[in-house]
Amino acid sequence: MASPTETQTHTEAFEELDPAAFQREVESGDAVVLDTREPHEYAEAHIKGSELVPPAEVSARIDELAPDTGQRVVLYCRSGNRSGTAAEELAGLGYTNLAHLGGGILAWQEQGLPVVEPEGMTAEQRMRYSRHTLLPEVGVEGQLKMLNSKVLLIGAGGLGSPAALYLAAAGIGTLGIIDDDVVDESNLQRQVIHTTDRVGMPKTESARLQIAALNPDVEVVEYRERISAENILDVIADYDVIVDGVDNFPTRYLLNDASVRLRKPVVSASILAFDGQISTFVPFEGPCYRCLYPTPPPPEMAPSCGAAGVLGVMAGLMGLLQANEVIKLTAGIGEPLIGRLLLYESLGTHFTELKVRRDPDCPICGENAPEISPEEMGKFPDYELFCSR
Ligand SMILES: [Zn+2]
Repeated sequence: MASPTETQTHTEAFEELDPAAFQREVESGDAVVLDTREPHEYAEAHIKGSELVPPAEVSARIDELAPDTGQRVVLYCRSGNRSGTAAEELAGLGYTNLAHLGGGILAWQEQGLPVVEPEGMTAEQRMRYSRHTLLPEVGVEGQLKMLNSKVLLIGAGGLGSPAALYLAAAGIGTLGIIDDDVVDESNLQRQVIHTTDRVGMPKTESARLQIAALNPDVEVVEYRERISAENILDVIADYDVIVDGVDNFPTRYLLNDASVRLRKPVVSASILAFDGQISTFVPFEGPCYRCLYPTPPPPEMAPSCGAAGVLGVMAGLMGLLQANEVIKLTAGIGEPLIGRLLLYESLGTHFTELKVRRDPDCPICGENAPEISPEEMGKFPDYELFCSR
């Protein structure tokens, strides 16, 4: 609220209007209406017909908005302070027909007058996701897409942990997590969703607790089981995007075949020692995992991830690149890593990108790949044969 002294100085240069008088000005269509707040405030709620001009830009932009210094210009902000200062600034530039809204948009809303708000989000959500909705590429529309998305994380381990945290923070509405493991002390060096006091707890439960504390908007669906030929089609059917944090080749092939059959995009990453790689497989739009790796490595060549060493931050780097892919796919922005394999080598800090093409002879997504009948769904060769335990 302006003090009496301030009001007196203001009256020299510009009028102070109450909400009803301000509304008449806005509806007359004769006045240039300026909102002198910051973009995230404007995005939450503003008066229809107003132009956003943050305080720092008022002097620079007034020429374009009101070239004639006799033009009626009315201003508002949150509570009336910034709009008063801006009006004084304009008076100093020679503007003679100025008014501002006393008490700001707070007083306006107290009177029950209408504001423009993003539809489909609560006031809390508008605040929480304002740094997303401020991005023109995302906006309210993109955020709503994320809030309505269902993403499945296969594994709540090294890759799944950072991916889950950032996807939860970003407001992915449903996160399914499948993992049959419990938190082990040796996980904590990289599986940042788990904590020391939750050693021994099922990983899905530990992840759910952490996500609930971070963002109550996110619904977590726990699957305390291993992904297998028996359950994979049922589990993935519900989801829009799958995050592959699988640590063995048989499961990776199983996931690939099932996701191609159900046409589910998979963001796949792997890490070992100081190296990581990531690609996004969107069935029939780009190659699948089998186009890239037609056969699994022989057992003696396949590392067993449980025993192999890995730099902890590699999990974070590759897991967040996965989360980045998921955001793009769910919000419908950017260019996902379809047909591209991104390699990262951490000791030298080198990224390398390789083009990957669909294999016309791919047994799963190739031109002559057999049609899959409903009876064949869920039937897979014995992948355990490939596995090096
Ligand atoms: Zn393929």
